[in-house]
Amino acid sequence: MRLLFFVLLSVLLIVLIILGFVAFRVLRNGDKSSSRRQGYAMLGCFTLTAVAACLIAALGACCWLPARVLPSILGTQAQPRTTPQPIHAPAQTPVPEPPPIISYPGDTERFAVSMIPEERPALERLDDPPRYTLDVSVLWDQAMVAGQERLLLTNNEAVPLDEIVFRLFPNAPYYQEGNLEIGVVEANGHSAQFELSREDTVLTVTLPAPLPPEARIDLTLGFTVTVPSRPDRFGVHQNVMALGHWYPELSVYDDEGWHTDPYVPLGDAFYSEASLFTLNLTLPEDVTVAATGVETARRANRAGSLTLTYQGGAVRDMTVVMGPVLEAISTTVGQTTVNSFYLPNDRVGGQQALDVAAGSVQTYNELFGPYPYTDLDVVEGYFLIDGSPGGMEFSGLVLISSEFYASEGPFTMLDMPAMVVAHEVAHQWWYAVIGDDQVDDPWLDEAFAVYSSILYFEAKQGRKGAQVQLLENCTLPYRLVAWAGGDRPIATSLLDFGDALTYSAIVYGKGGLFLHRLRETLGDEHFLGLLQSYYAQFKYRVVRPGDFHTVMMNAIDSAAQEKAVAKLYDDWVLGATGEPVSLDDLRGLLDLLK
Ligand SMILES: [Zn+2]
Repeated sequence: MRLLFFVLLSVLLIVLIILGFVAFRVLRNGDKSSSRRQGYAMLGCFTLTAVAACLIAALGACCWLPARVLPSILGTQAQPRTTPQPIHAPAQTPVPEPPPIISYPGDTERFAVSMIPEERPALERLDDPPRYTLDVSVLWDQAMVAGQERLLLTNNEAVPLDEIVFRLFPNAPYYQEGNLEIGVVEANGHSAQFELSREDTVLTVTLPAPLPPEARIDLTLGFTVTVPSRPDRFGVHQNVMALGHWYPELSVYDDEGWHTDPYVPLGDAFYSEASLFTLNLTLPEDVTVAATGVETARRANRAGSLTLTYQGGAVRDMTVVMGPVLEAISTTVGQTTVNSFYLPNDRVGGQQALDVAAGSVQTYNELFGPYPYTDLDVVEGYFLIDGSPGGMEFSGLVLISSEFYASEGPFTMLDMPAMVVAHEVAHQWWYAVIGDDQVDDPWLDEAFAVYSSILYFEAKQGRKGAQVQLLENCTLPYRLVAWAGGDRPIATSLLDFGDALTYSAIVYGKGGLFLHRLRETLGDEHFLGLLQSYYAQFKYRVVRPGDFHTVMMNAIDSAAQEKAVAKLYDDWVLGATGEPVSLDDLRGLLDLLK
């Protein structure tokens, strides 16, 4: 464009010079009596030519001088090309600052230490994942955590982002006195507007200017957490503090926009992208810590406190469970260190949890593909759901209720501790590595975790042991609820379940049974091949049901099988009725358990 303009101006210059020259010749050869008029005309021609030449020279300079040189010559500030000013902008409109170039210092090498060597290149292939740095201090006696979060975020969407949304789960009414208070919020070093909504569990930060695709933004949030007194995945009880989903957690933006589903105590109402985390945790020196990722630095401070640094690569959360009473034992599986943290007097249970966790990692490594992290923590904590013990998955860390560690009692009767530990460890494959929307598609992690734990029992106890687990955990709960009229599609949102019994029977029970029926239809080899290619293809990503459906249909090798698998998926996953159930069926199942 600039070249064309310059050529046109040059042509104009030449034409004007020729015109001036011709006029000069004509006038000089004209009538002598009008010599004064001729003189004025000649002067006019020369003046016209000179003005044209000056104009062209000035415009040529504008076209060709580097943009940065002009402002110093002309005394004006050039606008960056990415933020053009509107022609009729009011005089008072502030000039937006150009987006700063944010580099990622040290970057993926710092996080690679938490990955096994063969998975480290995967960090480089990730599409600029969110990078969190959490600098926090634990005020142990007040059950509070205070500090700041810095999030370096790249807009990986195809559209500009006007706002960035975070989830503040500690503010959910379920957690009662639990609280996550936001102080100053800054975007690229400047104070940013924000607002809270959905019972203060949604924080929306308005950006000073839309963030274009592929651009990066540097957000800093000051925050203070009040940990509620309760035996829970986020709570402090008998000197053990569990920090699950405790910091401002980036929401997920996808084709539905920012996800801001309400927090419900049923299931695990979480949804996050694979991210890179640095945690700098300052706390009393006598507190033992289990956290996502690996400890990479330890510094003693004055006044008896320590600052520990943890790095976690390609993980979905940064979770901490800590207490002065926790003890730990470890073992190694492949390239992963498995740690079991337990309460005093529960050494036997701590060893059992370690054995099951290590056996589970080994089994799943062989069946599905490698656990990619160098560290896995199995932590005993006080964790009751409606008065019953439970387990909870986080990235690189699972929390197991202390009730399961008791040497006697109702929960040691049916191999439940092993089942729970094997289930939560399986979530490392189906939640932590392959992510899903745990609100919209809870079956994509729960059904797979249930069936994986049954495969663990099959590896350890043979088919008979696995059949007992399938019966207790899947067939019986599902058929009881189905017989009572509660059957519904496995692909049901968490928000559409009214009670824990139906949710568990459908998502865990019917979901696990569907995978068993799929295995029977495909055969063992194809079924495991399907899970392996699914895991390899979607690791560190988020799956939707259609992704699994595609991989499943690709695992089929005959027309008859294709028809059977398509019907199975339609009936069980999408349809309301998996299989008809009679009272005699139930009686038969109960007889089997005797
Ligand atoms: Zn689960």
